[in-house]
Amino acid sequence: MPIKEDFCHDKKPVGKISLAGGEYFHWVWPSQGLVEASKDEQVVAAYKTHKEKMEKLGVSGTMVAVDWDSCVADGACIEACPVQVFQWYRTEKDIPAIKAINETFEGTGSAVKEERKDYSDNADPIREHDCIWCMACVSVCPPQAVLVDQGNQEWHEKAAGTFQKMESGSANPHAEH
Ligand code: SF4
Repeated sequence: MPIKEDFCHDKKPVGKISLAGGEYFHWVWPSQGLVEASKDEQVVAAYKTHKEKMEKLGVSGTMVAVDWDSCVADGACIEACPVQVFQWYRTEKDIPAIKAINETFEGTGSAVKEERKDYSDNADPIREHDCIWCMACVSVCPPQAVLVDQGNQEWHEKAAGTFQKMESGSANPHAEH
């Protein structure tokens, strides 16, 4: 199921994933339901091997968003990105996805398509703020779990309390991350 365009509009994040150093973090937004991941044989098998329960996770990221309930660890987004926005979270911290929410990562996870820990891994937009809006990651995702929308910076900032309305009515591009 394609990620919904309004996944973060007027919603409250369920948590955040931080990049060590205190500079950047990205929000995790409410789940849109258990979709592709729960029906994918390889993902289900990997959860079984870990003896982990599959539960609703949510959407990781705001301007660069990956629906973790839809992500089947294909890695096409990771391969497509020219500036390594994504990492396989589990190659840095081998913990259940639900526990990755509200964790801090160093950003040292793999950004190579075939280096996923296994199919319970997820592509995480750990360097969301480095995105250059090339859109290469969007069309390559098999379950259409990735949405890139620079305009969603407004929702990132509103949730962070850093949103400043400009006279023109648009978001301040220089507001803090
Ligand atoms: S839009 Fe381009 S730069 Fe941004 S995350 Fe996707 S592939 Fe990377």
